[in-house]
Amino acid sequence: MAKPRIGLFGGSFNPIHNGHLHLMSAAKEQLQLEQVILLPARVSPFKQHQTDMVSAANRYAMCQLAVEDFSDCRVDDFELQQKGVSYSLFSARHFSTCFPNYQLIWLMGSDMFLQFQQWYHWEEFLEYAALGVLARSDADQEKIAIQQERLSPYGTIFLCEAPVSTVSSTKIREKCKKQENFSCYLPQKVVQYIISHGFYKEDQMRKES
Ligand code: ATP
Repeated sequence: MAKPRIGLFGGSFNPIHNGHLHLMSAAKEQLQLEQVILLPARVSPFKQHQTDMVSAANRYAMCQLAVEDFSDCRVDDFELQQKGVSYSLFSARHFSTCFPNYQLIWLMGSDMFLQFQQWYHWEEFLEYAALGVLARSDADQEKIAIQQERLSPYGTIFLCEAPVSTVSSTKIREKCKKQENFSCYLPQKVVQYIISHGFYKEDQMRKES
């Protein structure tokens, strides 16, 4: 009998937005995930020197607000408790020991999938988790198919199908900096949290860093 499945979803979530929630919903339904566990990174491997990163505790808090009304979804602080860079390998290894009777599926957008061979010990990573991928741009579709073929000998790759969402945390941070309205890109509770803490404004980022 096939194992039940859990989705693991890592990221910097600076901040979490509707594109993330869109991927979670599509994957949950299409890959029949029993639950999705969000894993905000303490220190993202690819964003170690990013200056407009709010604290891990605040990114974690925004994730919690975003999934409050999402069934079968929770935020886990595993990566926040670790020292050093938050390599997904360590999380995949950890959760595979927590859930030995489940198939773990690591959710990601096509940007991450297309650079997957740059991930820390990616071949070992695929021993612990399958990948669940959603395109972030229609232009990525062909490259996704090629990458799927390339990686399939090493592990299991699931492709989700859903309309592309082009929202990104970068776009939201830029809108905040320019004092433009960004409220349509993320849950209202997260919008309020960002506004009340004054995140992503130039002066606030100097304070956070
Ligand atoms: P930034 O713009 O700061 O680089 P981001 O919007 O890409 O951030 P991350 O927290 O870095 O968000 O992404 C975490 C995961 O969510 C990654 O696997 C990323 O590909 C995926 N993701 C982010 N936005 C989308 C989206 N709009 N559609 C599908 N996947 C997404």
